[in-house]
Amino acid sequence: MGRVWFVGAGPGDPDLITVKGRRLVEQAGAILYAGSLVDAAATRYAPVGCLLEDSKSMTLEQISAWLIAAAGRCDTVVRLQTGDPGLYGALTEMVRPLDAAGIPWQVVPGVTSAMASAAAAGESLTLPEVTQTVILTRVAGRTPMPAGEDLEALAAHRATLCIYLSATLLPQVQRALRAAGWPAEAPILVVQKASWPDAEQIVRGRLDDIDQRCRAAGVDAQAMIIASPTLGAREWAELTASKLYDPSFGHRFRRAAEPGLAAEIGEGSSSANEIQ
Ligand code: SAH
Repeated sequence: MGRVWFVGAGPGDPDLITVKGRRLVEQAGAILYAGSLVDAAATRYAPVGCLLEDSKSMTLEQISAWLIAAAGRCDTVVRLQTGDPGLYGALTEMVRPLDAAGIPWQVVPGVTSAMASAAAAGESLTLPEVTQTVILTRVAGRTPMPAGEDLEALAAHRATLCIYLSATLLPQVQRALRAAGWPAEAPILVVQKASWPDAEQIVRGRLDDIDQRCRAAGVDAQAMIIASPTLGAREWAELTASKLYDPSFGHRFRRAAEPGLAAEIGEGSSSANEIQ
């Protein structure tokens, strides 16, 4: 019996799949890919003779049945999904029938579209003393938002908001942010088809005109909305530089110019004791 791999294909550019994801695609006996957003990676890297199918017209039940049948025939079955499989990807619904059928499965993460959109626009989603928090969310469409997660409540944090699945609901986003106290001139970024060669579109606007700008640009699907107090910071007159690159700030990989500051570097450095 084969194994099913839920592979994040990344945001669209086939070069943005991980090395591990690509290796699995290259050795797959069967690949079920999630619509046109990831067909490039599937068709570019799939081996000759691999069974390739688009799931766009399938129900969840049909997807599970397809994966189970394929795992009966092939060692490596790949379910290729946009971005990262763990975000708005129905992963849990798909793996439960595999568990019930005793089929092993694993997830390979992917570059999510929020990060691809920030990269396309050259923006940082965190900035010292501005915001150190990123919220990945959506507004209610046909899927309702759980209690306490409406956009107005989340926007009250004044952190970075990456809003998925909401490009056609921009007026709702505008109302929620205004109600949470964001100013009309707050910068908003919308990126359609981030990372797609020849199709990426970046729209910058303000909270009060972003819907109009997106409509004028024809942006209404496959788009990420980013609202963040960090947007446009590269043009600010003054910026609090990250402590990580401050000469007086020592950490595991660099001696501080002056002693006495605690380390705050990310991965792997858990305490000030690691400062040499
Ligand atoms: N699992 C995916 C998200 C699937 S939900 C991920 O991690 O990115 C689909 C939503 O993702 C779209 O409505 C859009 O908001 C966003 N999206 C997917 N691909 C995108 C891209 N290339 N550029 C901008 N937004 C994208």
